[in-house]
Amino acid sequence: MYSEELYKTDPEIFDVVRKEAEREHSGLELIASENFVSEAVIAALGSVLTNKYAEGYPYKWTKDTDEIDYSKYGRYYGGCEHVDEGEKLAIERAKELFGADHVNVQSHSGTTANMTAYFALGEPGDTLLGLNLSHGGHLSHGHPINFSGRFFNVVQYEVDRQTEQIDFDTLLKLAREAKPKIIVAGASAYPRTMHFERFREVADDVGAYLVADIAHIAGLVAADLHVSPVPYADIVTTTTHKTLRGPRGAIIMCKKEFARTVDKVSFPGMQGGPLEHVIAAKAVAFKEAASDEFITYQKQTIANAKALAEALTKLDYRMVAGGTDTHLMLVDLRSKGVTGRKAERRLEKVGITCNRNTIPYDPEKPFVTSGIRLGTPALTTRGMKEPEMANIAELIDELITNIEERDRYPAIKAKVEELCESFPLYPRRRTEYKNISAR
Ligand SMILES: *Cc1c(COP(=O)(O)O)cnc(C)c1O
Repeated sequence: MYSEELYKTDPEIFDVVRKEAEREHSGLELIASENFVSEAVIAALGSVLTNKYAEGYPYKWTKDTDEIDYSKYGRYYGGCEHVDEGEKLAIERAKELFGADHVNVQSHSGTTANMTAYFALGEPGDTLLGLNLSHGGHLSHGHPINFSGRFFNVVQYEVDRQTEQIDFDTLLKLAREAKPKIIVAGASAYPRTMHFERFREVADDVGAYLVADIAHIAGLVAADLHVSPVPYADIVTTTTHKTLRGPRGAIIMCKKEFARTVDKVSFPGMQGGPLEHVIAAKAVAFKEAASDEFITYQKQTIANAKALAEALTKLDYRMVAGGTDTHLMLVDLRSKGVTGRKAERRLEKVGITCNRNTIPYDPEKPFVTSGIRLGTPALTTRGMKEPEMANIAELIDELITNIEERDRYPAIKAKVEELCESFPLYPRRRTEYKNISAR
């Protein structure tokens, strides 16, 4: 019904949306940072809450006791009584889900959340110790072209050459030399468990603050399938749109002692008006994440990642760090004589989407890379299980081992589409779009 309005007003953008829904349905989504949100989350996102300005918070900080007072009006605009309820629900649900003292749900993105965390704990020029991007870290953990690398004195740690995992003795040595103000624990391409308790030991040894960034693994943490950083880190940031399966955005969790500062740095320090439609959608996602179904889903996501990694290993692909404990894996393609860039581009031609990724100590340039990163959150949301993972490993292998034989691509693509047809995505939505555009 509302899509019809879009079609009438702007058929070009309608078509963008319609075609994207078809693309999501008819391809195999292996990008580890993507997922498919529920219709309930989309409904909150596409709601009138987008109209509301609500700078401030649905509470006030008391001057002398440093406590949150919900009975006071903490907004800089009138008419916030309903969005206040939405934001309070998002906060309470996130606190419950992760066991955090305080949660700020206003961050527009994971990068902004990290920026807020760093400026809550440090000043420009302070030393920041983060995982190198080409060893699995994120741009916002100190890359020179990112704000983090420009505002902070960055020292980067790497994974061990042999194990391709973080070695805490090496990290401790580096931390003692660098004397960082802030240590960042977290990654975008690290298939193994992040031992936050070990990071805490290192931080304590050198008197540093610890920021944990669980953008990728938040869903696993919420389902208790990965060690939680909440007891160990001073501030925990996470995106809400990856394994957590909510809208695009982020939240910041912290210990009580940093709560007021985090709020102040976020607004007015870093952002203006919060996106209350996104915050409402975050609340919906947190409610979904507290369910038994969500735990079952996360367990299956991990089981699927293990199944895919094992099937690829049998087909002679090397898994970085020897496999996976999480929702993702890094595949070293050197045994196949194919670069990450080529694999990414050609896989896309048969409807398999993933991203090229550096492997630790990669001999190729970051734009080319020797590997690809594969993740199972999105496919698991569609209902795929271990047998499909074995099938997908074979499809990937068929493409990679015959990469120059383009006449074989259509047959592989047909197999991909056939598999997708058995796991329909947004069926009602796609039917509606089809009906409207057929008129
Ligand atoms: C994805 C990711 C982010 C950034 O999220 P954006 O919302 O894209 O800014 C931050 N940290 C890590 C570890 C991530 O994987």
